Amino acid sequence: MAVSARASRMWGSRPVFVDIPLTRKSKPNVRRKMITVNALTRKYARTTAVNQISFSVDKGQIVGFLGPNGAGKTTTMRMLTCFLPPSSGTATVAGFDILDQSMEVRRRIGYLPETPPIYPEMATAEYLRFVGRLKGLRGAELEKRVDYVMGRCSVADVKAKQLGKLSKGYRQRVGLAQAIIHNPDVLILDEPTAGLDPKQINETRDLIKDLAGEHTIILSTHILPEVEQTCQQVIIINKGRVVATDSVANLQARARNAETMILEVAPRDGSIQAEQVQRKLEQVAGVSRVQIKDRRNGGFLLETESRKGELVRGDLARAVIAGGWDLNELRPAAMSLEEVFLQLTGSDSAAQEAKPDTAANTPAADSEPAGPPHADAAQGEEPQA
Ligand code: ADP
Repeated sequence: MAVSARASRMWGSRPVFVDIPLTRKSKPNVRRKMITVNALTRKYARTTAVNQISFSVDKGQIVGFLGPNGAGKTTTMRMLTCFLPPSSGTATVAGFDILDQSMEVRRRIGYLPETPPIYPEMATAEYLRFVGRLKGLRGAELEKRVDYVMGRCSVADVKAKQLGKLSKGYRQRVGLAQAIIHNPDVLILDEPTAGLDPKQINETRDLIKDLAGEHTIILSTHILPEVEQTCQQVIIINKGRVVATDSVANLQARARNAETMILEVAPRDGSIQAEQVQRKLEQVAGVSRVQIKDRRNGGFLLETESRKGELVRGDLARAVIAGGWDLNELRPAAMSLEEVFLQLTGSDSAAQEAKPDTAANTPAADSEPAGPPHADAAQGEEPQA
């Protein structure tokens, strides 16, 4: 027997479906959405860092919040963790409003900012006890949680060591330990592998995946492989706006379904204008994008994109010949997830940002760790216009 009915309701410009209990005996609706964000906006004097973004995260999911540097990821994380008020819009965490019920939200969120919020002169266990007390833990329960998180994050062997003397990998794991000390529903991790070496990156990613069973996780990163390896869902943000929300599997399928062709087009006699060739190729049915890549042998290298199976090769070749040019080369090139990301974020710098996954490409977090937990609440904020 049906115990609930589906009904649609408008939420912003999108319809959402809600379950309506049909009988009084029916169980309370299990909240599946752990985070909802609706038209959240944050303006600084000269910048709109986050512009009307909306998304939701289901309970127990691990979601990648992906975007190039400056996309608005940190600003969003800081609004969700109640350290920065939005200029407009709303968000809820575990059903609590970030503005009206910020204490409830904070209780349910563990936050690891980009620089772990640690006191260098404190020892690991002492620091975790300190954070635990701030989160309202006391006595035996506090000791139990400190022991548990030290074991969970593999930092028990440095429990008496000063945080300032730990390696970055250890510091990051202590940062994760402090974020989960109060067993929050939601974990928000901002660039959690920044500045780590490849081995530490792998260890940290494994730990995050391990934590996903118990917590809903938002992982902010500019590293695409990080999302591929760690997350189920991805929210892609660019210039303060959400440009895609999809499962990693769907994005990968989308990459597999697109076909990129490389063409080398040269003048038959006289000169050649790349833009003219581009316009001609854009008219070929099935071609969704044409990019001028490079100069080559007196001509140009161009790249076209089409759906797999569209069989555009013959038409591309004919278009070049009909244009009065020579076709020196025509070959397929697979479209990578990187290119899908690039297409969505629409900038070369975005691709550069998303591509690397090496220590050399992750920003060095060499600066001394910041002060107290969540002391970054009001740091460096430009007055609002
Ligand atoms: P991300 O985390 O994706 O790199 P941020 O959220 O840090 O991006 O920044 C988004 C935009 O907002 C950038 O253009 C950045 O320069 C601007 N911004 C961030 N913080 C401040 C601030 N405190 N004052 C003024 N502008 C800021």
